[in-house]
Formats: sequence, structure tokens, C-alpha cells
Amino acid sequence: MNIAIDGPSGAGKSTVAKILSKTLGIVYLDTGAMYRAVGLKAYRAGISPTNAPAVGEMLPDTKIDIAYENGVQKVFLDGEDVSAEIRLHHISKYASDVSAIHAVRLAMVEQQRKIAAKTDSVLDGRDIGTFVLPNAEFKFYLTADVSERAKRRYLELTAKGEACVLSDIERDIAARDYNDTHRDFAPLRQADDAIVIDSTHISIDEVAGKMLSYIKCM
Ligand code: C5P
Repeated sequence: MNIAIDGPSGAGKSTVAKILSKTLGIVYLDTGAMYRAVGLKAYRAGISPTNAPAVGEMLPDTKIDIAYENGVQKVFLDGEDVSAEIRLHHISKYASDVSAIHAVRLAMVEQQRKIAAKTDSVLDGRDIGTFVLPNAEFKFYLTADVSERAKRRYLELTAKGEACVLSDIERDIAARDYNDTHRDFAPLRQADDAIVIDSTHISIDEVAGKMLSYIKCM
């Protein structure tokens, strides 16, 4: 069984996917983390994330591994645990930019499909229901107003001690929404057969409850 959760940044996908993974006892794959790891490698190498040929050249020497420690996903870039570093705010823009590069998407999608084929899983991302797993048994599209998503991301980052300004976060999220929905290849869009949930005015626990009741009814 595969569950696809797509939607824009900050809608609560990863939190809800973790709840589903724990409740149903299935693997959670955070696909955004893989694009973040590629973005981090470009950042460290001083490569512009929009320079497709340079990022493409870097790819054959880039190894991204996903592992689970006590049920928590860890991301390894060329053998190094980068799980915390990929979450830094400045890496988000790098991830969004490299994710628009065709070669990057093909490499990540291949790895995601292999993981999903091996085990029952919940995957969150932008193109899971439309492109990575078009035959997933359950597809959800989780969204929320941009101001609410910015507020949540701001609280998350400040809780981790990262200095940030709410209006900057909102602007960056809107820019990433634009990037994600306007790229040529596998853009963010709602799959025709996805169930849409708007989390602007409901808690993540309520979102998870809605998804679980849908899954259990089927
Ligand atoms: O989900 P998260 O915000 O961590 O993802 C980082 C970036 O990776 C997103 O802004 C998006 O551009 C990209 N991404 C993607 N396709 C996915 C998951 C993430 O393009 N399946």
C-alpha cells in the first residue's frame, strides 16, 4: 500500500505523514529531504542551483541514502548525515531550484519508486500522486493559506533557534509555490483523483484523523 501526500510548502504534509506512518506502522519517505540534500551539495560546492549543466555534472558523484533510526528518517549525503543541515532556511531555496532540473528529478524519482515498491509507505512531496506513484492506493492534496503556512514555518524555525522574519518567510514560501507550480517537468498540482484537505483552519491532528478515516473506510 502506498499513500501519496502532495501540497505546497508548510501545509503540514510531513507532520501528518509521520502520524500516518506511526499509526499504520508503515515507512514514511520525506521526498523533499532528497531535493534538499542535492541543494545542500550545490550550496557547499558554490554551484548556482539554477545552473542545470553544473548541477547535472555533480549528480553522478552524488549519493543520497535514506535510513531510519528508531523510526526517524535520516538523510545521508555522500555518507554524511545531513538530516539537520538540510532543514536550514537558506537550503530551502536551493532545494526548490535544483528540483526544477530534469536530471535531478529523474534520479530522485527513480530512488523514490524503488523504496515505495519494496514496502508499504507514505510519501510526501509535490508530484507523488501525479508522477512518482500515479497508482498509489490513496492520494491526498494538503493545502493551506500562504499566511498560515508562513506562520507555521516561522514558529518551527524560531523553535530551532534560527533567526528569521515572518514577512521574509511568507515571501520565500510564495516564491517556492511559484517555482513548484510553474516548472516544466512534474510540477506541483493536485492529482485528479486526490482528496483535497485544507488545513488553514483545522489542526494537523484533525487532518490526520480525516485521512485515517478515509483510509480505514476503503
Ligand atoms: O518538502 P520540502 O519543503 O522539504 O521540499 C523542498 C523542496 O523540494 C520544495 O520546495 C520543492 O521545490 C522540492 N520538492 C519537489 N518534489 C518533491 C518534494 C520536494 O520538487 N516531491
